Formats: sequence, structure tokens, C-alpha cells
Amino acid sequence: MTEAVEGEAVEARAVVRRCVDCGELTKRPAPYPGPRCATHHREKRKRDKERQADAKMLKTYGLTPEDYQDLLASQNGRCALCHRRIGVSRRAAIDHDHGCGKCGGSGCRFCVRGLVDGLCNKDVLGRFGDDPDRFRAIVDYLERPPAQRVLNRTSTV
Ligand SMILES: [Zn+2]
Ligand SMILES: [Zn+2]
Ligand SMILES: [Zn+2]
Repeated sequence: MTEAVEGEAVEARAVVRRCVDCGELTKRPAPYPGPRCATHHREKRKRDKERQADAKMLKTYGLTPEDYQDLLASQNGRCALCHRRIGVSRRAAIDHDHGCGKCGGSGCRFCVRGLVDGLCNKDVLGRFGDDPDRFRAIVDYLERPPAQRVLNRTSTV
């Protein structure tokens, strides 16, 4: 019954260091700063990360958490490009026009285009940039595949 032995040891420690978020009744060990138990330590870290992300978003784009939620809701919680669900386990990426004159391209309230998932941000927008002509050329490629003009000259493709 090692558990009972551990429980006693824990109880002795808990008298000194009781988790600040657990309330009075718990005897859970609180070995983390605060002091906090493992559960509340995890929760605090998550809150801190959220707060940091909020601060960064405000500093970079001038967007409040409410702005972010409004955008996410307006996109039905989906990536603006591929329509995959976003913003569930991690924060959606904020896409902006890098050619913006107001902020010099670093991102601001006036050039945010939408919320996208990480793949679309990196692989689609990151790769093809901010040039709509690049994307028109891709549409053209799909609608009129160039290989077909070579391989099947008689077809009407
Ligand atoms: Zn706790
Ligand atoms: Zn996407
Ligand atoms: Zn801008």
C-alpha cells in the first residue's frame, strides 16, 4: 500500500503548501509555484499562454479578444480558405496583407484579411504571397490543364 504512505507524506506537505486555487478542503500536493497543484498549474499555464497571445494580437494587429471572437464567428469557426475547423485546440492564424501601407506590412487592423489554419497560412498564403494574379494563374491551371494541350491536342480542353 505505497499509496497510503505517499498520501500521508503528501498531507504533511500540503499543510505547508496548499494550492491557492483548490480551496480549503483539498489535501492535494502543491509542488508548483503559487503554490498550485498539478491541475491548477496546468490551468494557470494555459491562462497565461492565452493572455500572452491576446497581448501579442493586440500589439501586432490592434485586435482585442472580442475582435478575434467576432472574426471567428463570422467565419463559422472555419478557415477562410479551406474551411477546416480552426481555433479549437490552438489559436487560428491571422492573415494580413503584407503590402499594407498603413503598417508597412507588419500587420494592423486595416490589413487583416481573415483567420486561417496553420497549413493555409504557411503553405498557401506563405508560398503564393499577396498577389491575386498568382492565384488566378492557379485557377487557370486547374481549369485549363496545360499538359492536356500537349498530350491531347485534338480534345477541346
Ligand atoms: Zn489546485
Ligand atoms: Zn485552411
Ligand atoms: Zn497593415
